[in-house]
Parts: sequence; structure tokens; C-alpha cells
Amino acid sequence: MNIILLGPPGAGKGTQAQRLQTDVGMVQLSTGDMLRAAVKSGSALGQKAKDIMDAGKLVPDELMVGLIEDRIAQPDCAKGFILDGFPRTEAQAEALDEMLARTGKKLDRVIEMEVDEQALTERVVGRFTCARCGTGYHDKFKRPRVEGVCDVCGSKEFSRRKDDNAETMKTRMAAYRAQTEPLLPYYRAKGVLKTVDGMAAMDEVYRQIRAVLAGA
Ligand code: ADP
Ligand code: ADP
Ligand code: ZN
Repeated sequence: MNIILLGPPGAGKGTQAQRLQTDVGMVQLSTGDMLRAAVKSGSALGQKAKDIMDAGKLVPDELMVGLIEDRIAQPDCAKGFILDGFPRTEAQAEALDEMLARTGKKLDRVIEMEVDEQALTERVVGRFTCARCGTGYHDKFKRPRVEGVCDVCGSKEFSRRKDDNAETMKTRMAAYRAQTEPLLPYYRAKGVLKTVDGMAAMDEVYRQIRAVLAGA
């Protein structure tokens, strides 16, 4: 099964994708994580993406399409993938349709995570991740079980994203509204769109997603 998690920054896409990856074995394809890894490695892509990401704008479609196309072609994606952060524009959605058709794959569901805009800034400003294994946390909504220690790998180092501040959130939200939100009618028209309540507690959101995947 191949799915997209669609929602604004801070909606909970990464949180739910990580959980699905662990439980169901689908592969999480987070374009944000891939780009941050490229920035860290100093690759050509990373150099092009860095300032754009720090400003909260979108990286050009042709770079993103190339990145995801290479990733989807890897053997591990054959067991099913979760797109988290891609597509973000109609051009990316069209390119995805085209590459799936060409490789004999299909998109089974697009899951919209519906959230109140006011909640998003609080979510992203409080977000942090384990620097070693990438597990996501939140200052208020998901603290590690033992203070300062990652639940999953025991690391004591955490990191925060430079773009997770109230100012950059304004640009990111504007990009979402102008360029990504039009994907909702795009996928609704294809009959693959389902909506879950992204304002619910994490376990409840997960339950709703599992129900959608089970065909409800
Ligand atoms: P996205 O990948 O959509 O940008 P994340 O999954 O990283 O969003 O979630 C953003 C922040 O909000 C994280 O710190 C996460 O722990 C927290 N979060 C995720 N889902 C919920 C939820 N349902 N309720 C409260 N906080 C949440
Ligand atoms: P969030 O889930 O909080 O919106 P991401 O980690 O998905 O953040 O993305 C971080 C940044 O990486 C975006 O603001 C954008 O600059 C860039 N980015 C990620 N995915 C894409 C994409 N599909 N198209 C263009 N830019 C992207
Ligand atoms: Zn960890």
C-alpha cells in the first residue's frame, strides 16, 4: 500500500509516519528529512536547498521530483511507502502520478490531517527530535519518558530545527495555503482522499489512520 500524509507544517505527519513505519513496515519517505540530510552532508542539493528551507519557502519542483523518484525506485519501497511532505505542489503531484504509472505502482490513499491553524505554531515551536535516531518529541505534548533521554535509543542529544520558529511559520503556512492546499481537491477528484482529525491526541489520530488503511 502506498499513501500520502497531507497537512500543514506541524500537522503530525512525521509523528504518524514514524509510527506506521515501526508497526506496519511501510517506508517513511520524508522529503524534509532527506533535504536536511543533504544540507548536513553539504551535497549540491543541500547547498541549493539550505537558504530556501531556512526562509520557509519551497525547494524547486524539479529538485524534489528527482529526489523522490530515485528514492521510490529503491527496493525497500516495494513493500509500500508513506509520503510525508511530498507532493507539495500540483506540479509535484502530477509528476508523482506520472512516475507511478510508468513504474506500475499506484497511490492507494491520501490522508488529510485536518488541524486548526492556531495550534500549529505551538506544535512546531515546541518540536524537537533525537539527534541520533530521529524520534520526534514535543516540549508539552510528548516529552521523553525519562527527562533528557530518548525513549527509543537512549541518546541524550536532541536537536531543534532552525525553521521551527513563529516568524518562519508565517511563510511556511502561506506556502501551504497557496501551493499545497489545492492538492486536496486534486486528490478528492481522484477518489483517494480521506480525512482524519489531526487535533485529536496522537493515539486517536493513529487509530483513525489505521482505520482508513483498513478500508473504513
Ligand atoms: P509534521 O511532520 O506534520 O510537520 P510532526 O509530526 O513533526 O508534524 O508534529 C509536530 C509537533 O507536534 C511534534 O513536536 C509532535 O510531537 C507534536 N504532535 C504531533 N501530533 C500531535 C498531536 N496529535 N497532538 C499534539 N501534539 C502533536
Ligand atoms: P513540515 O512538515 O514541518 O512542513 P518538512 O520537514 O516537511 O516540514 O519540510 C521542511 C522544508 O523542506 C520546507 O519548508 C521546504 O523548504 C522543504 N521541503 C520539504 N519537502 C518539500 C517539497 N516536497 N517541495 C518543496 N520543498 C520541500
Ligand atoms: Zn533516539
